[in-house]
Amino acid sequence: MLGAVVVGIGTAGWVRIRDMLAPLLGSPAVKLNVRGFISRRSLDPQQGVSQISEEEAVSREDIQVVFICTENVLHEDNVRTFLQAGKHVCVEYPMTMNYKAAVELWDLAQKKGVILHEEHIELLTEDYKELKREVEGKILQDGTLHFTGGALKPGFGFPTFSGIARLTWLVELFGKLSVTVATIEEDSGSNYSKMTAKLLTSDNRPLTWIEERGPGLPRAKNINFHFDSCTLTQIPPAPRGNVGLFMQDLIHFSAKLAGQVSSEELQREKLRVLHCLHLAETIQQLCLS
Ligand code: NAD
Repeated sequence: MLGAVVVGIGTAGWVRIRDMLAPLLGSPAVKLNVRGFISRRSLDPQQGVSQISEEEAVSREDIQVVFICTENVLHEDNVRTFLQAGKHVCVEYPMTMNYKAAVELWDLAQKKGVILHEEHIELLTEDYKELKREVEGKILQDGTLHFTGGALKPGFGFPTFSGIARLTWLVELFGKLSVTVATIEEDSGSNYSKMTAKLLTSDNRPLTWIEERGPGLPRAKNINFHFDSCTLTQIPPAPRGNVGLFMQDLIHFSAKLAGQVSSEELQREKLRVLHCLHLAETIQQLCLS
């Protein structure tokens, strides 16, 4: 068994504790035993799990695994602290708010011989899997992914980082991307922002990514992908899977801990995460220049 702690008791942290208390039977997630949580607040036990200090988690030998579920701007420091202590780390996306720090964290994980995993539940949704099947084998001419959603609380960072899940979709669907132009409209008074990035695939096909947030905006992903053979204007509807998204991620992470994921797959994920963070940073720089 591997002892685990959860850092940050928001929506994601709460779900991590729930899933470790009732893992999918027969999956490698049964090997994780939640031994505590860490919070900046002083909290009563959560789902029967007690609060412990960061110092205790760092020094305890029966804690080998840490889940970082805090706001995005805190991830980098949280991850570094626990990697430095030789713990395996699962961090909710995005891992960092810049590319260089992510490279450093990955180097540190390698030096310490531990797993560093960035959660990407957006790739585990049935909607995404169906869309991936639809796109497979088609030749893209051009496309748009326009995300809308409510305003975010402070601490979630620039839209390219808080919205890294959309960028990750585009990269997984269409391969490596580059950015040509990017702009942002912001109205801090009304908490509204709209980021538009013009991207290119490696075949020079244009893709537009729009990340629009404001109070009351519905959470939606609108697509318009033109292929040689057809146009996709809707994410194909797919029934929900039987296993929750965070549980699927927990199983994937624990399979890595159990040595059940090939080094090729680990490397592929690492390169994709780093490519997306690099793009997110480049788009941010273009928006702010
Ligand atoms: P959240 O706002 O629920 O919690 C974020 C942080 O705020 C946590 O550290 C929590 O401890 C802290 N917090 C919450 N309420 C607080 C309070 N009253 N006082 C002090 N601190 C408080 O956010 P979340 O949805 O759990 O997101 C955490 C991370 O998970 C983010 O990196 C996010 O990108 C990622 N994530 C979340 C989801 C999701 O579905 N919620 C999906 C994918 C990734």
